[in-house]
Amino acid sequence: MTRRIAIVGAGQSGLQTGIGLLQQGYQVSLLSNRSADEIRAGRVMSSQCMFDSALQTERDLGINFWEQDCPPVEGIGLAVPAPGNAGGNLIDWAARLDRPAHSVDQRLKMPVWMDEFVRLGGELVIQDVGIDELEVLAASHDLVLLAAGKGEIVRLFERDAVRSAFDKPQRALALTYVQGMAPKEPYSRVAFNLIPGVGEYFVFPALTLNGPCEIMVFEGIPGGPMDCWQDVTSPAQHLARSLEIIRTYAPGEAKRCEHVELSDDNGILAGRFAPTVRKPVATLPSGRKVFGIADALVVNDPITGQGSNSGAKCSQVYLEAILARGDAPFDAAWMQATFETYWGYARDVVSWTNSMLLPPPEHILNLLGAAQRSPVLAASIANGFNHPPDFMPWWLEPESCNHFVNEQLKKEA
Ligand SMILES: Cc1cc2nc3c(=O)[nH]c(=O)nc-3n(C[C@H](O)[C@H](O)[C@H](O)COP(=O)(O)OP(=O)(O)OC[C@H]3O[C@@H](n4cnc5c(N)ncnc54)[C@H](O)[C@@H]3O)c2cc1C
Repeated sequence: MTRRIAIVGAGQSGLQTGIGLLQQGYQVSLLSNRSADEIRAGRVMSSQCMFDSALQTERDLGINFWEQDCPPVEGIGLAVPAPGNAGGNLIDWAARLDRPAHSVDQRLKMPVWMDEFVRLGGELVIQDVGIDELEVLAASHDLVLLAAGKGEIVRLFERDAVRSAFDKPQRALALTYVQGMAPKEPYSRVAFNLIPGVGEYFVFPALTLNGPCEIMVFEGIPGGPMDCWQDVTSPAQHLARSLEIIRTYAPGEAKRCEHVELSDDNGILAGRFAPTVRKPVATLPSGRKVFGIADALVVNDPITGQGSNSGAKCSQVYLEAILARGDAPFDAAWMQATFETYWGYARDVVSWTNSMLLPPPEHILNLLGAAQRSPVLAASIANGFNHPPDFMPWWLEPESCNHFVNEQLKKEA
């Protein structure tokens, strides 16, 4: 008998999983609290830069519809600007990615995936799902996946205090989608600026509703000078504030911004949330179980740009586990085991990302500085974004990090 699966949330993980299941002959209902038109006409949600191994999971399903049109992100660069707007950078290096990354505005991507989901025979329902609706879904489906990202409903999953390093937001976040920015030469990149005591600013090319753009991402340390969005009341003010920050704290990037304008009035976002890991199985009042996926269970600060990447990889793990389950029940033990398979990957993403939110220890300063002298080291750091487990364990361990750095430097001496 055809198995019936319900998915709540039309984001990266919900749609990718839904489409993958339809392709395998499952019957899938997907519930979204926003229609495709509302998503398209709404605010930007993310900077959604995805690296090659995550993009591959989309290629595997044939839903990589923007590969030709999306401007490639060809590398990653790091600058630590000299303090006090003195000009120049204390650290400044860049390295090419082995394969390009892409960022497709979710306002563009999700509506097209929703169409694809329906085209493949999926049932798309526009509804804000609460406990009552989950009960109905759980009674009528073999499995309910909660893919609601940062939606309130994900609080159904208990916070995992052991796996969650923080209980408060670690950055004040803002996004500014712009056009007219001068490109980074000689190759495009995530230009990452680490501003001690203030936060981080990074910027990279993307594809938005009206064509190519650059996405400016601001990560302000709470209470610091880049935590400065509360009094902004209009898109024009948001852009002006973005440019002010760059002139003050990342002057090396200011020249590129002389002719920028907003991609559109909804190309802005400001907010904050606490990076959190949750337990994967929630029990409804009836006793039925609901299984979380992607951000619903593991939500990281965007400082390392991993959420959509991890969401895509989580989707792939779940898809494989559902297929492998055959006709056996999707019980709590299976849910827990499936999540642990994903956690085997995600835990390294979490610990690497969390480490970036704290003042860098000496071995990391040493590593980032040494990368300026060693193209091989710079390339290892850049390409680690594609698969953060490659950073482990040395990123977190001073001795093995220093050893890694010395070995690289010796090779290039
Ligand atoms: C500022 C910022 C920058 C980011 N930059 C990057 C980056 O560069 N690279 C990267 O990989 N990741 C980035 N991310 C993270 C990335 O956007 C998310 O991790 C990813 O979108 C998570 O996918 P998801 O499927 O779990 O949830 P989402 O994509 O958030 O989708 C959840 C969906 O569920 C719907 N929903 C919520 N509640 C309900 C409900 N009750 N009923 C029905 N529907 C509901 C929502 O409307 C939404 O459509 C960034 C995030 C932020 C905030």
